[in-house]
Amino acid sequence: MFSNIPAEKLPQISKSRAAYLKKLDITTVNDILNHFPRSYEDRGKLKSIIELTDGEKAFVKATVASPCSVSRIRKNLTVVKARVFDDSGFMTVTYFNQIYMADILTEGKELNFYGKAVRKQRIVEMTNPVTEPEEKFTGKIVPIYPLTKGITSKMFSGFVGSALSYLDSRTCETLPSYIKEKHKLCDILFAYENIHFPQNETALSIAKKRLVFEELLFLQLGLLGLRNLNEKNNGIVFSNFKIAEKLAEELPYELTNAQKRVIREIAIDIKSGKQLNRLVQGDVGSGKTIVACAALMMAAFDSYQGALMAPTEILATQHYESMSPLFSKFGFTCALLTGSTTAKDKKQILEKLKLGEIDLLIGTHALIEKDVEFKNLALCVTDEQHRFGVGQRNKLFDKGVNPHILVMSATPIPRTTALLLYSDLELSVIDEMPPGRQKVETVIANEKQRSKINEFLKKEIKNKNRIYAVCPLIEESENSSPDLKSAVIYAEELKKAIPEARIAILHGKMKPKEKDEIMMAFKNGETDILVSTTVIEVGVNVPEATVMLIENAERFGLSQLHQLRGRVGRGNRKSYAILMSSSNSKQAKERLKILKDTSDGFVISEKDLEMRGPGDFFGKEQSGFTDTKIANLISDIRLLKEANEGAKSILKEDPRLSYEKNSLLKINVNKMFARDNHIFN
Ligand code: ADP
Ligand code: MG
Repeated sequence: MFSNIPAEKLPQISKSRAAYLKKLDITTVNDILNHFPRSYEDRGKLKSIIELTDGEKAFVKATVASPCSVSRIRKNLTVVKARVFDDSGFMTVTYFNQIYMADILTEGKELNFYGKAVRKQRIVEMTNPVTEPEEKFTGKIVPIYPLTKGITSKMFSGFVGSALSYLDSRTCETLPSYIKEKHKLCDILFAYENIHFPQNETALSIAKKRLVFEELLFLQLGLLGLRNLNEKNNGIVFSNFKIAEKLAEELPYELTNAQKRVIREIAIDIKSGKQLNRLVQGDVGSGKTIVACAALMMAAFDSYQGALMAPTEILATQHYESMSPLFSKFGFTCALLTGSTTAKDKKQILEKLKLGEIDLLIGTHALIEKDVEFKNLALCVTDEQHRFGVGQRNKLFDKGVNPHILVMSATPIPRTTALLLYSDLELSVIDEMPPGRQKVETVIANEKQRSKINEFLKKEIKNKNRIYAVCPLIEESENSSPDLKSAVIYAEELKKAIPEARIAILHGKMKPKEKDEIMMAFKNGETDILVSTTVIEVGVNVPEATVMLIENAERFGLSQLHQLRGRVGRGNRKSYAILMSSSNSKQAKERLKILKDTSDGFVISEKDLEMRGPGDFFGKEQSGFTDTKIANLISDIRLLKEANEGAKSILKEDPRLSYEKNSLLKINVNKMFARDNHIFN
């Protein structure tokens, strides 16, 4: 089959390039075709020089006016400069360290320039524009790929070009023709060609629809298939549900009705002899942890073991610190296993675990390592689910015999969406906040109020409160990372404005360990202001944090802003969210106002869906909450619904995908869920 042809077989791929590609998990021709562009640049719209505005990315056709100049500024810096013109005016183009441009920029030659224009009154400049001879221009939409060092987008396009020549629509088609007809989808060949080399925007959207739909269809078939499998499983029956009431008596607060209801829903599943497969959704701070704790205690009471997996070390530790004392009150044992558990401790924990001397094991991914063996794992809880792929979830479950499954998600998403995304799970919602929770006062501010805000921050620090400051993730260009710079610059500005503040920076490129340490220092009060580029770890409790300051708030999705806001107001101190935005767009203003007006995460996520601004819902960092490559599970909601209905009707007719006409579906779903031991066989 073509898909197994190694990437090195393509003429342009040398050994060293193959090694770079491997870093991107690309080893076969098929992988190359399935490595989709992250975005596209429309170089189709030709502009004249006079039209260019400052900061605009544009495409210009111009003639070199006079011989270019070449200068060597210092040892490693050469500059080639030329004046070019079109019917409307002149522009200066400058190239750093591209000495070969001197040969291309010959007087009188007409060339295409694509780049960011800088305009100061009548002077227009472009630095390092993409420069191509005129005949090459086809009014094209150019793909931009997510890549690593050593491979450029242009190079990658070349790989795709030769990979396409291996394709034959009869052997590479992944959908049965009756499905393509029913859902009006194009052929796979057309789809691959146009996702990588779009003829025009219409062709691109047809290609995209097909690929997104296909991915969602496989996902839905797999999830529904999993559910069918799980429904057949007999669950382990626990005997004591009163333990949840006893637990409640130990708490310094009264459980909310929503918490009680969800605990009851869990208990009913377990009592019925059915395997529990449940997603618990609740807004930040709604109290999901104690619900999980109650379920885990039901297991412990019957001498069964439980596992709780969290995405970061700091979260796992936090859970351990809150649950361990409760467990010991009832004579149960808890242990914590993470990447930084010492070898000696780990050995001891693993031994005890195997003997059943540990009732609850809390930890990070460390829990799914091979050497972790339970005696009788009966309940698996994963917290902040969207961080784990379905595969990881299942690796934990494989450590028991049909253990009960509880998934906690901190991202409120509309019920309809949740039902589709987690179609392998039942849904419980904690739709009530603990009483007395103070509202986080939310203000929208702009640059003019900067000094007033800094004064306010000073006062908060003086009162021993802590501050989060978040800068947006600016879309990264291929080799640089401006997001990193923006936080650094911003931290410097803050330092000047508030010299007494102890400021730390946290960004997405740091190692998990480093991130945890910085977060810990903030939690412990060694830092006053935490400036971060990345989404601050979900779920971390810092009761002394009273201010969440968000720069360029308009760049974030509403749900994301809401999540960030949930980081403060966790103690009894009056807390604030300050949304900085200098955007004049009416839509941006309306979006932010929603946040000011409501504090209900579900309402916010509904609105977010309705308005669907750019880059919504989850930021770039969080988008991978299941492993889809091309579909954006949220913005492709309509297709998701269609795929869900499509999958249901296919399975209704052919529950095991055993019909000949569905054989392609079976192969591809099994491939997508390879870690789940082939759902359909
Ligand atoms: P999340 O749902 O975001 O995971 P947590 O479980 O971390 O929320 O709970 C947030 C805080 O609220 C914790 O400090 C917890 O002790 C507290 N809490 C949970 N339930 C209640 C309740 N019913 N009344 C008062 N406080 C509660
Ligand atoms: Mg939580």
